[in-house]
This record gives sequence, C-alpha cells and structure tokens, in this order.
Amino acid sequence: MELIDIGLNLAHDSFDADRAMVIERARHLGVVQMVVTGSSEDSTRRAIELSRSLPGVLFATAGVHPHHAADLTPETLAPLEALAHEPEVVAAGECGLDYFRDLSPRPLQRRAFEWQLEIAARVGKPVFLHQRDAHEDFLAILRAHGVKRGVAHCFTGGEKERDAYLELGLHIGITGWINDERRGLNLREVVRQIPADRLLIETDAPYLLPRDIRPAPGSRRNEPAFLPYVVRAIAKARGDDPEAVAATSTQAARALFGLPAT
Ligand SMILES: [Zn+2]
Repeated sequence: MELIDIGLNLAHDSFDADRAMVIERARHLGVVQMVVTGSSEDSTRRAIELSRSLPGVLFATAGVHPHHAADLTPETLAPLEALAHEPEVVAAGECGLDYFRDLSPRPLQRRAFEWQLEIAARVGKPVFLHQRDAHEDFLAILRAHGVKRGVAHCFTGGEKERDAYLELGLHIGITGWINDERRGLNLREVVRQIPADRLLIETDAPYLLPRDIRPAPGSRRNEPAFLPYVVRAIAKARGDDPEAVAATSTQAARALFGLPAT
C-alpha cells in the first residue's frame, strides 16, 4: 500500500525528540508522502523547512488556524502570502472557522479566513480547511469566494455538511475520528457516500490517536505510522478493500495537491 497522510502537525514540539524516527516508521509502513500542516506563521516556516529536508516526501501548507486568527493582521498578511508562494507549499491554510473553542473572536476568525481564501486564489493553490460548529458562516464565505479546490480536513460532520462540500467540489479528509467506537459511529455512515476520488486520509498527528490500536501505545501521541488504522476503518465502513481505499485516496491526494508520483 502507498498512502499519503494529507494532514499532520509534524512541526509540533511533541516530535522534537524523535521526528526522524517518526518519519522513518511511517515510510516503512507505506506512508510515502506527508503534507505537514502550517497553522501559524511560525509553524508554517517550520513545515517548509521540514519539507526542504525531505524533498518529494514532505510537503507543507501555509496558513493561520482560526484559533490564532487574531495573529493575522494587515502587517502579517504579506509574510504569510510570501510563504504560500514557496514551491514546497501545496495548499493555503489551515484556515477556517472554529466556533467550538472560540479561541479568537469570531469577526477576526472570519476576516483571517477570507484573507487566506484570497491568498489561495492569488497563489493558485487549493485550500486546507478547518471548520467546527460554524457550518453556516463557513459555507457562506466559501460560496462568496467561489472556492472550488480544497479539502475539508478532519471532517466529522453529517450528511448536510458532506453534501454541501461535495457540491462545491471540495475533497473530504477523514482522520482517526472514524476509529472511535462511540464518536465515530455517525461518520461511519456518512463516509459511505463520499466518492472515492474525493476522499482523503489523514492522521492529524499528534492529535486524534486511533482508539483501536492494539496494543495501545503507551503515549497518547498519534503519528503518521498509524495511518493504516484509519484506512482500515474507512474500508470497513464502506465495504471496500483497504488496498482500494489506499489506492484511490493516494491518487486523489496527488491530483489535488499536485504531488509527484514516487
Ligand atoms: Zn484542524
């Protein structure tokens, strides 16, 4: 199996002690390419640096997460756009709206989101999207900006959200949320009606450790080597072979982000 983890926070400090080993373990299990999430100007810079250290294997996104939306100002916008231009960067974001945690005021979240959609349009790259408890505002902004190319990452929504994103032309990213024997039940239904060429897989490491790993790792840290657990859970929910989910999601990720074949 050749897998692509389209969203992991590899610049996170929980990987500082053993990042090279984490990457090696994942590659050994067939995770041939990984898109490292930039969620602030600083983590974007680190994601780009990491990508340069392993060209063709690691790629980056350039963005400011809604939690940090207050950090994106008219002054910090130009440096972010410059980063989004870098050749290692395959998407603008992580950007979007998070009304669940509300760590930045909502008007600032909407402003930062719209600015980043404008950056994506100017640099001609897809968007890496985050949304939680903000579907109506999120959809209205996507529509107003005519967004057609991107991924709704860490999708945990229902049929209504799924169908709205598919209608726009977006891809949908599924994490180990689906492995959760309670929280993942609804997602196991919803994932059945995502066309294979729109379905992407991700760990969102170090977060969202799949709960069905046996033996359960001593640390709660998720890592890209656990991506096959996500593939198997998706395949089981859809009644597909894991090999088929792997092949189609890899092809879809390469098409969306313009990644080279390995
Ligand atoms: Zn996210």
